Amino acid sequence: MTEREKLDFFEKKSKIYFKHGGVCCGPGCGNPLNYNNFQLGHRIPQSTIDKYGPEIVHHELNMLPVCGLECNKRVDIGTEPGSILVLVEQILEAINQDFRLEDYKAELMMEIRENEEFEVYQDRGGGGAVLCEKEEKSKEGAGIQDIFGRSEEELSGIF
Ligand SMILES: [Zn+2]
Repeated sequence: MTEREKLDFFEKKSKIYFKHGGVCCGPGCGNPLNYNNFQLGHRIPQSTIDKYGPEIVHHELNMLPVCGLECNKRVDIGTEPGSILVLVEQILEAINQDFRLEDYKAELMMEIRENEEFEVYQDRGGGGAVLCEKEEKSKEGAGIQDIFGRSEEELSGIF
């Protein structure tokens, strides 16, 4: 991290602290936070940055001030595609971007259905709908593009 990036980060952290009234946003916690010693919890986890891109993952709407590791874990919505969809839409609106939103929604709807153990079908372009097996899906989803259509290589230049 450069000095400039560090400064930007602390500015963002401070802004998030005041926006949430200086209290922990862990579900049901509400502990007052020490301005000099608190954590930022990512709602959409940092581990998914290749998929969602830094604009989403590092956006201030994706971060909540928390008192410690326990609450940090509890603000993570990584396993809730429905919640991710709502938040991604909010962030895209905030940054005035809508690239691939429709594709992305379709993808998330599929994840939601999968979680609910419905059968998942996917259109193979002319071949009609076929059963989409989980293995195939994970192969397809392996680090191709983020929500803005950028490759992993392109992304590595950002942040
Ligand atoms: Zn807490």
